[in-house]
Order: sequence, then structure tokens, then C-alpha cells
Amino acid sequence: MTRFDLHIHSALSACAENSLSPGRIVERAARAGISVLALTDHNASANVAPTMAAGQRCGVGVIPGLEVMTREEVHVLVFFDDLAALADWQTRVDAALPAAPNRPEVFGEQILYDAADGIVGVDERLRQVGIGMGIDALADEVHARGGVVIPAHVFRCRHSLSSQLGFIDPGAVYDALEVTTAEWRRDGYRLGQRLCGFPVLSGSDTHFLEDVGRSWLEVGASAPTAGALIAAIRSLGG
Ligand SMILES: [Zn+2]
Ligand SMILES: [Zn+2]
Repeated sequence: MTRFDLHIHSALSACAENSLSPGRIVERAARAGISVLALTDHNASANVAPTMAAGQRCGVGVIPGLEVMTREEVHVLVFFDDLAALADWQTRVDAALPAAPNRPEVFGEQILYDAADGIVGVDERLRQVGIGMGIDALADEVHARGGVVIPAHVFRCRHSLSSQLGFIDPGAVYDALEVTTAEWRRDGYRLGQRLCGFPVLSGSDTHFLEDVGRSWLEVGASAPTAGALIAAIRSLGG
């Protein structure tokens, strides 16, 4: 079985706890039996490489990813198979991100860590804003780079398909949809189920260290990439 959580923020997200360092994240995940996780910072991915390195020390696979905010201010989880593809996508995001400085006193700090949990700097750019790219164009561009597109917390009252667009387009090319952990439990979702025609899953959306390892999903296959995870989930059927 692969126990996974595809939605974890590090200290690079202004709204996340500053103690969310690579080593602390993967160690807590390992203690909870999570063998695959994804780091998904807001419009940012600089802490992914150190988290992958830290994960290798304790047997936790880290999928390169981030949580993009689109022009419509919808949050979308985006995943790639390797750091090169992630870096190429990050360059695209940075080009589409409004050029403005972060205001740490308002939004929080954006902390860069190394794999040994040393603080190596701060990201001074404002990241918690929509980039100049709509969600459909984003999905096409990510797919063209071999990536995976999963709209986040699709029923949440902020920054979701429901709140920003008012509907979930069954004709869109999303690879899956994410609902919150609370909704997953309350509404009795199961892996393999479809939501508006898409595979549905849940992630912890961790913003505090204590939340790492509090929730996860499991699939039977060994699945070290987001694409393999989605394929395994699809194969479970309706
Ligand atoms: Zn979000
Ligand atoms: Zn998030």
C-alpha cells in the first residue's frame, strides 16, 4: 500500500507556520506511515528540492509540486515527475506573477530552508496572489509539460472552483479534484469514486507542523509520482 498526502505547505508559504521545514515535514510524515507526499507552496517551489533530499533519508518520496493561484483566484495543485520540469514551470509562474514585494508583517514570512533544516533565506516576492493565467490555459500548459492538474478544495468558500467560477466544468481536462479532509470524512468519499466525472481525492492542506500525518489516503499500488497515483486511483473504478 502507498499512504500519501498530496497537499502540504512548507514555511515558504506566507500563511504557513515558519517551523514547517523539510526535515520536520518528512520525519513527521514517516512516523505516520506516509510514504509519498507532495509539497505544494503558494506559487512557489524552492523548498521542494531540499524536502526531496530530506525525504530520501527517511524513506519518504516527495512529489515536486506547488499550489498555483490562477487569474480567477482558483487554487490548483500542480505536480511534475522531476525537478527539471518543476523548475521550467516555476519560471513560467514567475513570469505570470505580478511583480510586487511580499509584506511579511501582513502576510507572513516566506522562508527558504536547506535539506538540513537550516534557514538559507527568504523569498521577498509576493506569492499569495493570482498569476496572469486562467485555469484552462494553466491546465493545457501543465499538461504540455507532462504535469498533473488537480483543482484544490473545490467546494471551499474561498479560492475554489465553486467560489470563483460557481461550477465545476465536467468537460475540463483536470486529472482529479480535491475536497477537504473534513468533507471527505463527512460525506463518506472513497478513492475510485467520481466527482463530476473526475477522480476525487483529499489532501491535508497542512499549514501547521502538527497537521503533518494527521490525515492521508492509501492506494494499493506502489505509486511514486502524481501521474501513477492518479492512474492507480482511476483503476479502482467507480
Ligand atoms: Zn488552497
Ligand atoms: Zn493549500
